[in-house]
Amino acid sequence: MSRYVDVLLPLPLPTTYTYAVPEEFLGRVVVGVRVVVPLGKSKKYTALVMAVHDVKPDGYEVRPFVELLDDAPILFPTQLKLWDWIARYYLCTRGEIYKAAVPQGLKGEFKPRMEQRIRVAASFRHKRGIELAQASLSRAPRQKKLLNTYLQYVGGDAETVAREVSKHTLIELAGVSATICKELVDKGIFEEYEVEVGRLKENVEDVASLNALNPIQQKAFEQINEQFSRKNVVLLHGVTSAGKTEIYIHLINEALGRGEQVLYLLPEIALTKQIIERLRRVFGNRIGLYHSKFSDAERVEIWKKQLSDAPYDIILGVRSSLFLPFTRLGLIIVDEEHENSYKQQEPAPRYNAKNAAIVLASLFGAKTLLGTATPAVESYYNATTGKYGLVSLTQRYRSIQMPLIEVVDIKELGRKKQMEGQFSDPLVEAMSAALKDKKQIILFQNRRGYAPLLECRTCGWVPRCKHCDVSLTLHKTAGKLTCHYCGYTIPAPKICPNCEESNFINLGYGTEKIEEELSNMFPEARIARMDLDTTRTRTAYEKIIDDFQRGRTDVLIGTQMVSKGLDFDNVSVVGILNADILLNYPDFRANERSFQLMAQVAGRAGRKNGRGTVYLQTKTPEAAVVSHIVQNDYLQFYDSQLGERMLFHYPPFYRLVYVYLRHRDIGLLDEMAACYGMRMREIFGDRVLGPDLPPVARVQQLYIRKIVLKVEASFSQYKINEALVALKDEFAANKRYAAVNLFYDVDPL
Ligand SMILES: [Zn+2]
Ligand SMILES: [Zn+2]
Repeated sequence: MSRYVDVLLPLPLPTTYTYAVPEEFLGRVVVGVRVVVPLGKSKKYTALVMAVHDVKPDGYEVRPFVELLDDAPILFPTQLKLWDWIARYYLCTRGEIYKAAVPQGLKGEFKPRMEQRIRVAASFRHKRGIELAQASLSRAPRQKKLLNTYLQYVGGDAETVAREVSKHTLIELAGVSATICKELVDKGIFEEYEVEVGRLKENVEDVASLNALNPIQQKAFEQINEQFSRKNVVLLHGVTSAGKTEIYIHLINEALGRGEQVLYLLPEIALTKQIIERLRRVFGNRIGLYHSKFSDAERVEIWKKQLSDAPYDIILGVRSSLFLPFTRLGLIIVDEEHENSYKQQEPAPRYNAKNAAIVLASLFGAKTLLGTATPAVESYYNATTGKYGLVSLTQRYRSIQMPLIEVVDIKELGRKKQMEGQFSDPLVEAMSAALKDKKQIILFQNRRGYAPLLECRTCGWVPRCKHCDVSLTLHKTAGKLTCHYCGYTIPAPKICPNCEESNFINLGYGTEKIEEELSNMFPEARIARMDLDTTRTRTAYEKIIDDFQRGRTDVLIGTQMVSKGLDFDNVSVVGILNADILLNYPDFRANERSFQLMAQVAGRAGRKNGRGTVYLQTKTPEAAVVSHIVQNDYLQFYDSQLGERMLFHYPPFYRLVYVYLRHRDIGLLDEMAACYGMRMREIFGDRVLGPDLPPVARVQQLYIRKIVLKVEASFSQYKINEALVALKDEFAANKRYAAVNLFYDVDPL
């Protein structure tokens, strides 16, 4: 009888811990179930059983675990193998992966989920009733706003006003508090009640059949299958609007026909809505959605479904869906494979879901398809050197023309006074023509807030974050200054605390200021802004997209969010307001990111109705990457990048590991960073750079130092990792440095 278990705790600990199996649970504990264990004096954790055995550990008193949570394993050996790979490759602990991978509440039975619903009370459910209700609220503008939002949502006529709406959605849409809603209930205009709702929405009625592929898509589809017969990974390089999704659908359909599961990865939740709608039309209830904006309960439910006899055949999700318990995975699609958000940055595990997906697929003997219009340099390199297969789609779907790209030299125009704020005359003219023609416009400015810098003209004082080494960004509507690193926020000052004058100037342009300038220029235009500040909730995000798609807004201003593979048919003008923000970013990938972002934003233009024009405003029109974008020449861009990467020892020729050290005490930090750098040089020679200060050298009170390791790609990453782990252990054993936070970022992005 096995009387001991080795368990993994959801903590950054290097090893497993051993507990005794209490009498009552003997014979019921297997690998992959969870148990509640005591740790230290009073803490308890939900731990995962990794081994069951009979070997009594030496030298310490083994405590029993206190509770058994599962009757059967919550994951399978293949998932654990993926964890092992991530831990070894990305230098994190399995405990950190466990914490990130498994939803917290995965235990016990669930209560049915209840939802508050709202509808108009029976006595008001007719035209006259609605009018009376509206009239009675003339002195209560917020209540009236809520009622009107409701009416707009349900369609607003006498037949539809009995429709119920989720209370949560309604007050969020109206932007009012729950109190306002209660006031309408108290007045007898609304009625509120509770209904039980299933967390998994499975009410797809009509499932359509597959669309036929056009000859070009069909050829690509056949090439992919042909390449899959020889390669495990294929890169599908297809221009924007080439109809890649349609090809994915056919590949998924084939995999389902073979009885396999499919994982469809997207970089952002932002993209899931359009794609899931499209996939549900074909695959109905066989597809499940999984992402981090779901509540824990929702994620648990999907996890449990995947463990059941009838799991989803297709999972659409962002990077964490990689960890779901698949059993017969046959295909992974990594869409928009070039996106940075596949890499988890903070906290650990700092893994890249694209690479982990390829490993997961190989564990199942499955295939991986990477799709994009602008491949990551490393992916394209792998595809042209034979590691991956390569399929190219160079024509847009239904012969939609590639957009025309006009480079606008804003330095020159600024000198000639042909700029209105951030808008050049050619862009203003194009926007005004587009608005007249009832066409839509997308404006891209990769900075949120109003102005990135507020400065006192009299004494030069600039408000800075108390906790980080950055200046605060002005958010004008909110009347606040905010740190974009830690969220520290103060009211925008009226007078300068330094010289007591009131003489501020705003420097630089954020999306909020662009919005203001635009509405002064075109007061009749309906403008929406999409950035982190306007999309805090799923509903808000979806509403902005939906309104733009239905033509309820004319202009969409946004940060890089507007570049993400969204399909809009009526956009004739795209403005990239300041390409230099991207081009001047201090990183060896700045050109790659600029190319990807701008090519993707440009791809939003002229998708169906006529050729669109992109106005690319820059002070450096002579930059090589600008001409690559104008000519839509990925290959030329790729060649130039590859040359630079080889010359300056960057991926794909060299592998990078960044070492970050963080501590409050700058003296101690610098001392340890110097020692660490020295020890690394002893091991890796001149492959070590630094320690240096990262662009923002203090965040949330912690000073930061960075050491860069560049190693030839032909070296074994595991050998390098062994040395790095040993070095970290060596310093951790030194009491003086034990409190300094140190971590590795392998293959940083
Ligand atoms: Zn801060
Ligand atoms: Zn001042």
